[in-house]
Amino acid sequence: MTINQFDPVLATMLNAELNRQRDGLEMIPSENFVSSAVLEALGSVATNKYAEGYIGKRYYGGCHHIDEIEALAINRAKQLFGAEHVNVQPLSGAPANIAAYSAILEKGDTVLGMDLSHGGHLTHGHPVTYIAGIYNFVRYKTAADGSIDYDNLRDMAIEHKPKLILVGYSAYSRDIDYARVKQIADEVGALTMADIAHIAGLIAAGEMNNPIPLFDVITTTTHKTLRGPRGGMIMCKQAFAKQIDKAVFPGLQGGPHENVIAAKAVAFKEALEPAFKDYARQIKLNAKVLEYEFSSAGYKIMFGRTDNHLLLVDVMGSKGVTGKQAQVALDLAGITVNKNAIPDDTRGPMDPSGIRFGTPALTTRGMKEIEMKQIASWMNSAIQNWQDIEQLEKIRKEILILTSRFPLYSDISY
Ligand SMILES: *Cc1c(COP(=O)(O)O)cnc(C)c1O
Repeated sequence: MTINQFDPVLATMLNAELNRQRDGLEMIPSENFVSSAVLEALGSVATNKYAEGYIGKRYYGGCHHIDEIEALAINRAKQLFGAEHVNVQPLSGAPANIAAYSAILEKGDTVLGMDLSHGGHLTHGHPVTYIAGIYNFVRYKTAADGSIDYDNLRDMAIEHKPKLILVGYSAYSRDIDYARVKQIADEVGALTMADIAHIAGLIAAGEMNNPIPLFDVITTTTHKTLRGPRGGMIMCKQAFAKQIDKAVFPGLQGGPHENVIAAKAVAFKEALEPAFKDYARQIKLNAKVLEYEFSSAGYKIMFGRTDNHLLLVDVMGSKGVTGKQAQVALDLAGITVNKNAIPDDTRGPMDPSGIRFGTPALTTRGMKEIEMKQIASWMNSAIQNWQDIEQLEKIRKEILILTSRFPLYSDISY
């Protein structure tokens, strides 16, 4: 029985979400549209199988096909990133980070991580998280020019003697000098961890610096620029393989989601194809067009510029519109972004000064420079006319015409 036949109430909700994704402009930089093959793997019979443990060492019978599926995902990830060891079982990015910390740290150990308002992630030690009470997180910031302040990072490393130096970000638009960070870590005897959740696809495509040959542990999600299923992954040097595997299972998780692991295998195969390199390059080109258009329209681009797929823009400082006002207006116009704190924001997290947006999902739909120019103009108009419902409605109608030219999941309905 289909969802529609058995549960029309849910079918209506799913169709509404499908139409929202089709009709609007999805510009949240952590989101993407997976392929039909990835969706098929997610909905496959692999969801039925318990497989606690690892390949060849499971706590359940009947795992021989699942072992092959998991090995396929692991081998493709190794090929994609040049990793020595890969664990594809983390259920998402946050559990991957927690597992990684628990593998390499003792309670009370000091971790040097990036400040949330400078682009870091909650799981990098924000006080609201559970792990902030277990480890001692010290936060570094970006310099005035927008790059990570490596000299300050070194000073802090010497002062705090961290067990771990952590890099990686959710709202930071520049690349990282991993060799420099590794050098600082070696100087103070710290381990190195990179959380590449947002930029994994760009790294896989060779479009951003790759920490994997240099760093001890690398965590990521698989659903952002990598364009796979919602999930996590840990890569590490062989020396940490046993600890990492033990930390994921049985340390933190139970049975792995083998349907998601099958979908990861599909996504990694897609990312290994030459077309994915073009995709990654276009993501960056598109982001550069938005940067140019927003700068020209008088907006302050945080961190100076974008080297990746996203931009953090100070709408409050530039136009006197708060992040929340901008987000709500853009939503009404059919453009999905998120409000976001800017470095050392004095406004609260529920209505910060900035908005964060990016190009991975629109690029998946096939949009290029010319569409970006038009979109920037709509965004500027929506932000400046955030109280003008008629103008926002007019933009929404124009966007409907644009999105209808870039079909999404034409073969799907619920
Ligand atoms: C998105 C993200 C995560 C968390 O991923 P979830 O899948 O939402 O748990 C962790 N770290 C960084 C840097 C991220 O951007």
